[in-house]
Amino acid sequence: MSEDIVAGLRAALGDERVLVGDRIPDRARSDWSGDHKGRPLAVVRPETTAHVSQTLALCSAHGVPIVPQGGMTGLAGGADPIDGGIALSLERMSGIEELDPVMATMTVLSGTPLETVQKAADDAGMMFPLDLGARGSCTIGGNLSTNAGGNRVIRYGMARDHVLGLEVVLPSGEVLSSLNKLVKNNAGYDLKQLFIGSEGTLGIITRAVLRLQPKPVSSTSAIVGCRDFAALLEVLRRTRARLGPTLSAFEFMWPSFLDFMVEHIEGVQRPLAGRHGAYALIEASGFEMGKDREQLEACLGELMAEGVIDDAVVAQSERESQTFWRIREGVAEYPRIVGITVPYDIGMQTGDIGTFVEALERTLNARWPDALVHFFGHIGDSNLHIVVGRLARENLGELNDIVYGAVRAAGGTVSAEHGIGTHKKPYLGYTRSPGELALMLSIKRALDPKNILNPGKVIG
Ligand SMILES: Cc1cc2nc3c(=O)[nH]c(=O)nc-3n(C[C@H](O)[C@H](O)[C@H](O)COP(=O)(O)OP(=O)(O)OC[C@H]3O[C@@H](n4cnc5c(N)ncnc54)[C@H](O)[C@@H]3O)c2cc1C
Repeated sequence: MSEDIVAGLRAALGDERVLVGDRIPDRARSDWSGDHKGRPLAVVRPETTAHVSQTLALCSAHGVPIVPQGGMTGLAGGADPIDGGIALSLERMSGIEELDPVMATMTVLSGTPLETVQKAADDAGMMFPLDLGARGSCTIGGNLSTNAGGNRVIRYGMARDHVLGLEVVLPSGEVLSSLNKLVKNNAGYDLKQLFIGSEGTLGIITRAVLRLQPKPVSSTSAIVGCRDFAALLEVLRRTRARLGPTLSAFEFMWPSFLDFMVEHIEGVQRPLAGRHGAYALIEASGFEMGKDREQLEACLGELMAEGVIDDAVVAQSERESQTFWRIREGVAEYPRIVGITVPYDIGMQTGDIGTFVEALERTLNARWPDALVHFFGHIGDSNLHIVVGRLARENLGELNDIVYGAVRAAGGTVSAEHGIGTHKKPYLGYTRSPGELALMLSIKRALDPKNILNPGKVIG
């Protein structure tokens, strides 16, 4: 059977688009999060929607599982290949097909890297607001399939909020083209939402119509240090109220995280003198160059005068601003510094996060005193990241039980942005009710009755 499908794929797509044996690249074996080392039968590299359709039709006919792969920066195992199955890499389906300045839309192929989309929008005097540390490698298809969040959700929303239309190939090979450009379109069910955030389990995204935003003319970053998390929450509340939509990022960093990044990331200095109980990286971007900055400075000045903020520094140049962001985005360096880490992307009501972090830090430090345990996150969106490193693999189950057990007790979500993949599948029921799980399974069965598309991920 395995020879039949490979022969069929080669006949339909040509040898050069079907990699087998030693030609299978290492990057196709595991996503960014782990050491999976899967053994796919073949990696298929389509260049057109017709190629994707032919591949899915063949997999469906042969009952062979298939896993869509974008930039492989996912952190939940969703793009990990299945042994003996097909890995479908969208890397060659890359490019911008249209930029419409009147509709403020961009139509792109799904394998286009996020950074390419950002740059094209910028060159046209507009902005594609989705932004995350993996921007250079992750693809729009992966971003939409995971409903990625990132740094600017507080102002612009998640990946879902930046999409107007999609072209998707269903597990049968049927192409569903809905490249809608209208912001208002209430004609029946909004089918694209089924595919956004479903981690490649319901269809393969091949094209997307993205919504662009006006490009801000000013951007100012600041780092603030507070005595504790409660004070930081007050900073969040006040900057939100005072800056309104100008507040474009509010990123939280626990002291041990900041200390670690300052020590290990080259060219980064400690931004504030002394050590504080909680830090935030704040970004304000707007349309009135001088005034935006003044407003941020005035707001932080008031908070300092009131004793809410202990210390703050506002970047004096674009370069200094980038240095601040390098501290927060130092997460990309974990593999180099500590090797494999376990990333969590949980969410809960913002006001509960401080006590949650303190209690969990105590528990984990007591259980594994030598482990690295870091807390940071997109706190303006109630999203907390935890990274655990220097822990033996056999402790992973116990670690997950502790972390996700605490999330369940706090009434939070086991995934705020990375998705479920395989890593969180056993814990999906901690966040979703039996009724929700049953409906998810019905949808999966209706769209993929043979369970060939990314089986074993999320729900199926
Ligand atoms: C340093 C770093 C920082 C990160 N920061 C953030 C962050 O701030 N916020 C955030 O949300 N995530 C973040 N991530 C996680 C990751 O970058 C995102 O999940 C991203 O959206 C994945 O895109 P990708 O192209 O790499 O997808 P992949 O990893 O290749 O795939 C992810 C999932 O999408 C599916 N998929 C991929 N392409 C398609 C397609 N065309 N059609 C259907 N399914 C598809 C895969 O099967 C898989 O289930 C970060 C990762 C790293 C390494």
